[in-house]
Amino acid sequence: MADKPTLTTTGGAPVPDNQNSLTAGRQGPLLLEDYQLIEKLAHQNRERIPERPVHAKGWGAYGTLTITGDIAQYTKAKVLQPGAVTPMLARFSTVAGELGAADAERDVRGFALKFYTEEGNWDLVGNNTPVFFIRDPYKFPDFIHTQKRHPRTNMRSPTAMWDFWSLSPESLHQVTILFSDRGLPIGVRHINGYGSHTYSLINADDERVWVKFHFKTQQGHQHWTNHEATEIVGRTRESTQEDLFTSIEKGDFPRWKVRVQIMPESDVGKHWYDPFDLTKVWPHGDYPPIDIGVLELNRNPDNYFAEIEQAAFSPSNKVPGIGYSPDKMLQARVFSYADAHRYRLGTHYEALPVNAPKSGVAHYHKDGPMRFFPNNPNADAYYEPNSFNGPVEQPSAKEPPLALSGAADRYNHRDGNDDYRQPRALFELFNSAQRDRLYLNIAEAMWGIPKEIADRQIAHFDKVHPDYGAGVREALAHMDRRHAAETAQQQMMPDSPQAAAE
Ligand code: NDP
Repeated sequence: MADKPTLTTTGGAPVPDNQNSLTAGRQGPLLLEDYQLIEKLAHQNRERIPERPVHAKGWGAYGTLTITGDIAQYTKAKVLQPGAVTPMLARFSTVAGELGAADAERDVRGFALKFYTEEGNWDLVGNNTPVFFIRDPYKFPDFIHTQKRHPRTNMRSPTAMWDFWSLSPESLHQVTILFSDRGLPIGVRHINGYGSHTYSLINADDERVWVKFHFKTQQGHQHWTNHEATEIVGRTRESTQEDLFTSIEKGDFPRWKVRVQIMPESDVGKHWYDPFDLTKVWPHGDYPPIDIGVLELNRNPDNYFAEIEQAAFSPSNKVPGIGYSPDKMLQARVFSYADAHRYRLGTHYEALPVNAPKSGVAHYHKDGPMRFFPNNPNADAYYEPNSFNGPVEQPSAKEPPLALSGAADRYNHRDGNDDYRQPRALFELFNSAQRDRLYLNIAEAMWGIPKEIADRQIAHFDKVHPDYGAGVREALAHMDRRHAAETAQQQMMPDSPQAAAE
């Protein structure tokens, strides 16, 4: 038999007995000095950390980004130069479900990427949809409340969801995607990813363009109907985890084509849509996608908790040559995502191995819980400025000034904003079978909510396209008829619970 390593305490000393507690006599009480028992119980109590309020259930893997195109004229970012190969981590997720939620649920999928570049980490915290439900972060906590459990019933509330959506027409575009086929993918290998927000690229001459990032699945789109998903969840709650993990284990590495849309800085204001509005896409006809490379996932993590649960993605992580835009939702996420990780993982979350930049760090943040990284290398410097060759700023990383500004005010984001045109363009891409499934998915999600909320929402569908409103109305009527027939049938059956109660 091969020699087995010695079991140790967390202090490194050998554990003499890992089977039997230390007691005063065979039937006596436990002794407090059985420290290893106390350590085991105490550790178990601390094995969970706060789950993410959104995107709690996730699946992830490592891979590479390979740049094959040439957009050097737009960006000096080394990660985007021709031929660059950069190690990266991906974490996919559903949005609303908790950590133990089933994978096969109708929901947006998170598509978060961390690129370990030679200039620091670049995080792109996207989704499988090019748009989002809201455009002003004032609404973010309100919107998320409607996706989570009702405080009194502790159940999800379709009434809350449709109440919010019907009062927020900017959500129509994303609602249409959510209830279309792409709202319930069979797994994350079969989804597109979108950076969703508008970002900026800055070149070596300090010129800025606006950019959208797209990741187009090379595995093909595949979806489940609601009915199929119900059966899948009955068999396994981990369908996406199984699919992603197994395909990577057997060497069938998922790939995405990486594309960008580029908009000249001066095009802002030239279109009917605001290019910084997260509820809008840039039509491909206006800004054709350019192929720039390939994203491949090719390695499973060794420890899910350490490497995926503790992975911390935030748009605050950017590198020279890639910048933000005035997208209000992006601006809010720059704060909010990093802050979520401070709360969830602790002050030094970026020092955890999965989050630490491979290019190293040199900063003056000190102390705090779990401070385990070394002092500034080669310098006895823990403040700035100093006379001991501590790290100093790099002015070349400064971005050119933004010329877009006006009087500080609270501008009404719904004023003059056409929230129907792009959902219509999407609806017009659907064939009749896709439209029928859209109507049914919406009706199933809406059925039973107060009539005035349903009517308000359907009035929005009417404005997108008359067929859209009519289709949902008919699907709801069909559900009413089906429900009435089922109720009547149950009442006729002598041993049904309803009949027994009568
Ligand atoms: P295009 O026809 O040039 O673009 C259509 C895009 O829609 C493609 O990227 C395609 O993705 C995607 N698409 C095609 N069929 C479906 C479907 N059944 N469900 C969901 N997405 C689909 O037109 P526009 O650029 O003018 O956009 C028209 C509408 O398409 C938009 O209003 C938006 O709703 C939707 N869309 C647009 C995107 C964009 O960035 N412009 C991105 C994604 C959707 P794929 O190639 O992977 O099939």
